[in-house]
Amino acid sequence: MENVVVVGAGLAGLQTVVALRQQGYAGRLTLLGAEPHPPYDRPPLSKDVLAGKVEDTTLEADWAALDVTLQLGCRATGLCPGHVETEAGPVPYDGLVIATGADPVRLPGPGSVLRTIEDARALRQVLRPGRRVVVVGAGWLGAEVATTAAGAGCAVTVVEALDTPLAGVLPAEVGRHFTPWYAAAGVELLLGESVAAVEPGAVRLATGVELPADHVVVGIGVRPATGWLAGSGVPLDARGAVVTDEYLRAGLPGVYAVGDCVTWPSRRYGVRMHVEHWDNALHAPAVAAANLLGDEVRYDPVPYFWSEQFGRMVQYAGHHPAGDRLVWRGDPAGETWAACWLSGDRLVAILTVDRPRDLAQARRILDRDALVDADRLADPDLPLKAA
Ligand code: FAD
Repeated sequence: MENVVVVGAGLAGLQTVVALRQQGYAGRLTLLGAEPHPPYDRPPLSKDVLAGKVEDTTLEADWAALDVTLQLGCRATGLCPGHVETEAGPVPYDGLVIATGADPVRLPGPGSVLRTIEDARALRQVLRPGRRVVVVGAGWLGAEVATTAAGAGCAVTVVEALDTPLAGVLPAEVGRHFTPWYAAAGVELLLGESVAAVEPGAVRLATGVELPADHVVVGIGVRPATGWLAGSGVPLDARGAVVTDEYLRAGLPGVYAVGDCVTWPSRRYGVRMHVEHWDNALHAPAVAAANLLGDEVRYDPVPYFWSEQFGRMVQYAGHHPAGDRLVWRGDPAGETWAACWLSGDRLVAILTVDRPRDLAQARRILDRDALVDADRLADPDLPLKAA
């Protein structure tokens, strides 16, 4: 292997070039990115950048030592065996890592989305006291934008088509405990309401009700940014995610994929996983790099993510659909609590609210696939440990 190209200069792309060098790859290395910036961190965009506390989230990298050809502002437009088609012409490879992440789903009309540093800076300008901001979607991103907008003094309404916040990712019995956080922060939450249209100055609901809006933020999810792979032979699923095997191989010789754009088969949970969170973009690259360099390493992580909303730190580890019962640790109406999913006596997932120690202890249990004592688990005063 003498010429590796990594497409997508986000966290997963950066981690891939770092891992390749750390693992001894000495050949040519190109990192190609559509954005004009070197890789930067996205989680602060909806938090400190939007709140005006941080301006720049560029990820640290010693580019000279990495000896990487950085081709920024250059979009890949297609893939043929042995070369990537780009806006600037073909780029040959003998090893390729796809790390093109995801694009936000938009609605027709004047609503904005939040994915890039430019999106965050532009949105920050409109979050002024008294402005009426409507956020479409009460998912992770919608909640964080609502938090920051309310903190900036805006009059915030969140419209959610389903009956609880986070309904796309958490069961209602857990998601419903997030509902009171909105009102407590002065945010109006409309559940079970579909948006019919985003219009200049208003959001029209399916019921005909018009919500006046100086600004609309659409936070209804993302789609893998893989349109450029159409017809290339790289397998894509119905959502457009690159379908890899457990070694992150992407269907063509020498081609691997990492980060938000990937679905991989989890041996641990017996299902395909598609995780659009930071920790996955951080860790998958070391596995892809090792395999590209001739190793055989399986990717089978315990997924982890966090969200900062309404003054709380929410953390999650595991895969709750693998559970068959839910055990509460603390009162979900209280300040701090955790929801623990068990399959038999195995802990398979945990969601914690302002209980970082629980999360750290649970991660160790989840990593080892260890058994727990459910009665002990339910006592928030006892440390979490394996049975
Ligand atoms: P991306 O970060 O999307 O990077 C992919 C890069 O590829 C982009 O720069 C894109 O421009 C480029 N690209 C796309 N198509 C092409 C092409 N054809 N040619 C060349 N380049 C291309 N996760 C958490 O766990 N916790 C959080 O609190 C959290 N907060 C978030 C807040 C926001 C506002 C956002 C947007 C995301 C947040 N995430 C969070 C998710 C996390 O940031 C992502 O999972 C992570 O950025 C994924 O990294 P990635 O490198 O796979 O993809």
